[in-house]
Order: sequence, then C-alpha cells, then structure tokens
Amino acid sequence: MNIHPKQFKGGIHPADGKELSSAGDIREAPLLEKYMLVAQQNIGAPPKVIVNKGDTVKKGQLVAEAAGFVSVPLHAPTSGTVGEILDIPGANGAPVSAIEILSDGRDEWYEAMTPYPDWKNVDRELLSARIRDAGIVGMGGASFPTHVKLSPPPEKTIDTLIVNGSECEPYLTADDRLMRESPEKILTGAAITAKILKVSRILVGVEENKPEAIEALKKHADKNTEIVPLHVRYPQGGEKQLIYALTGRKVVAGGLPMDVGCVVQNVGTLAAICDAVVEGRPLIERVVTVTGEPVKEPGNFRLRLGTPVRKALEFAGGIKAPVAKLVLGGPMMGFAQSSLDVTVSKNTSGILLLGPESVFQYESGPCLSCGRCVVACPMGLLVSTLSKVCENERYDLAEENYVTSCLECGICTYVCPAGRPNVQHFRRAKAEINARNRKNK
Ligand code: SF4
Ligand code: SF4
Repeated sequence: MNIHPKQFKGGIHPADGKELSSAGDIREAPLLEKYMLVAQQNIGAPPKVIVNKGDTVKKGQLVAEAAGFVSVPLHAPTSGTVGEILDIPGANGAPVSAIEILSDGRDEWYEAMTPYPDWKNVDRELLSARIRDAGIVGMGGASFPTHVKLSPPPEKTIDTLIVNGSECEPYLTADDRLMRESPEKILTGAAITAKILKVSRILVGVEENKPEAIEALKKHADKNTEIVPLHVRYPQGGEKQLIYALTGRKVVAGGLPMDVGCVVQNVGTLAAICDAVVEGRPLIERVVTVTGEPVKEPGNFRLRLGTPVRKALEFAGGIKAPVAKLVLGGPMMGFAQSSLDVTVSKNTSGILLLGPESVFQYESGPCLSCGRCVVACPMGLLVSTLSKVCENERYDLAEENYVTSCLECGICTYVCPAGRPNVQHFRRAKAEINARNRKNK
C-alpha cells in the first residue's frame, strides 16, 4: 500500500480502542415505541416545527421545515403519532426542544420525494435542492447544512472534492464499517456532489489502519476518483489537515477550504446524499458506534434519529463493568454527558462509555512551560500562551493569538502534564468571542 507522503505538522497517535467495535457488520436496531427527536440538529437557524400533538405522521414525513438558507428540515423517524413537544437534555448539557414520535408499529414510508436513479441527467440545482429537502448536514460532527457547502460564491473556483474517510477519532469505527459495507453508495454520493460542484477530481483520504475499507473503495472507484491511504495520525480528519495531506494546499488562519479550491465531505454525508437522490429518502437514521470497555457487545448500529442513548446501550447488550464517563462522539472531540436520556442526532457518530481506568482524575496545576502542547498542536498555535490568557479571561489577547483557529481537537489537554483543561478554556473563549461579535453586529 502506498502511503501519501504529505503529513500535517503536530498531532498525536493515542491508543485507539477501535478493535472493540470494528469487527462485526453494522447491526439494524429494532423499532422503538417512542423516539425523541431534537428539533434543531443543524448549525444555523432552527427549523420551524410544523406538527402538533395528536397529528399522525409517516416515516420520512416533514415535522419541521427549514427556516432560511442556513437551515434544514427534519423528518419523522417512523410512522405513528406526534406526542408531546417538550424539553429534553441536549448534547451540550442545556435543555433542548424535542418532538415525541409514538410509533404505530407499521413503519410506513411517506413517499414524498421522487427518486432520481438517473441523477446524471438531473439538473445540478435540482440535486442541490434535494440534498436540502432531505435535511442533510455534515455527519462527521459539524452539522453544517450540506447544500450551503455545495453553493460556494461564484468568485471561488472549486477544482477538488475531498472525501473524508480518515475517521481518526479513537474508538469510532462507524465510517470504517460504512466504507467496507457500502462503498458504492459513498462513491455515488461523491459523484453527485462532484456534479453539483462541477469538479472532476475526487480524492478519498482513508487512514492506512483501514485496509478493508481502502480495498472496498478501490474496487468501485472510477477514473476520476483516487483512493489515498494516509498516515495514522490524529487529527488527520480535520479539514485543513486533510486538505494539506491530500493536495499540499494550506488553508490560512481564518480561511476556508473553498479558498484553496476544495470542498470536504464526510463519507456518512455522501451515503446520505446517495439515499436522498437515488432513493428519494430523507435523513432519518445514521450509523453510530456504540462502544467502550464497559459495553457488553460493542459494535456499529443503524440508529434512527431520536433514539435515546439508554436504548442504544441496550441494543449493544447493556453494561458489564463500572462506568466513569459517557461521551457522545469520540474521546478527543466528543462531549461528556450526564444523562442517558440524550438522543441520537444527525451528528452523533458515537456513544462511548469509559471505565474508571480510562478517565484521568488529576488536579489542574500551573503551566510548566514544557512546550508539549505547542509541539503537538496541529494548528501551530501558541497554546501555552493561550492557556494562560484564557484562564485569566483575557479573550481580547486570546483572539490576537488566534484562538478562533483552534480545532478543539483536545490534543493540548491530552498531552499536558499539568492537567490543564486547555481545550475547555478555548471552547469558552471562542464562545465568548462569537457572542461579543454577534452583539457588535
Ligand atoms: S485543541 Fe486547539 S489549541 Fe489545542 S491542540 Fe487542538 S487545535 Fe491546538
Ligand atoms: S503542555 Fe501544559 S504545562 Fe506544558 S506548556 Fe502546555 S499548557 Fe503548559
């Protein structure tokens, strides 16, 4: 296997725990009696809920409509009745509005969208509108509406579609299984996306620790599509790191992939695009890794949006050992949870349980100026300086030192011998700076 020579600066290679969940096929989850569908599952404007308690709905029927360009609609995960519309625990800890869907057990589809099996002969505008109407967002974690990403301003020339199959987060194997089991779907989604963007070059980056996925994709790739094995290095899947590894192009601080002629899409998003266009199916489910040492039968599951975490854990056989932490996503970029009632959303890539042996409990101390964080930061930031100014809530100085370029990859917290909560400081600083900028607009 030829590994691509380019490698971004910094990064780490933590123990990845992927062997826990990578072996078995993606499992179908049984139909639940009730789903709790979080109303806002996209970055941007929250969609407008258009159903009321007591309404009957079918699977895939619209329950909330997009409220502006940077917004997407939301669809029912099964057929049944709308229950309460109420607040439930959200992934970031704050309560969020959710729609209760009570299943009628029939799981009947609402056939609203015309399938386009001949998508090669369908207008680009119609294809892009379909992606919006199907409620598709970035499923690698970003939740940014995909149709917006596929509408770059006319002055930006895009020449390359980058497919993100790196899945560098420890423990997560959902993308790996999807690439092994549905390579045609992913590559069809990539070809549809390339048509919308009017590009003919598709580069698929996959870390070399997924040889079966690389082989499966290679078998189905056409002459415009190159499958590129990459070094195993976290955060290889960061957009800027991936673009550099695949093309040698550098996105400057504050810049976007489109500034260097690239658009990046995650493999799960591309599979959803294929379903929406070829089958006429909206986004109502996704592959989620349910894993961690305390989980009895870790693996990957096709879970409908609105599935509670406690049910997902039941599908994985339950818990066999003490749990110290529940995380949505991976251990580096995921969010710790305090409730099993949090539910699966469009960006839920993993449900991770960590035992006491995997959760470090140490006091945070003063910075030792050891420089480990600076060496490892993939964005080349002066992390130790940022750590101190953020601790003192000097967000003006944090902005001057490019805290807004922080990927929130968590490496600087992972490597810090003083146990400093660096990424937590930077998340807060970014939120404060964003809030201030919104206020000043
Ligand atoms: S969390 Fe931010 S500052 Fe820390 S290593 Fe990652 S990119 Fe650098
Ligand atoms: S790794 Fe921790 S102790 Fe070392 S310089 Fe960075 S913040 Fe300071």
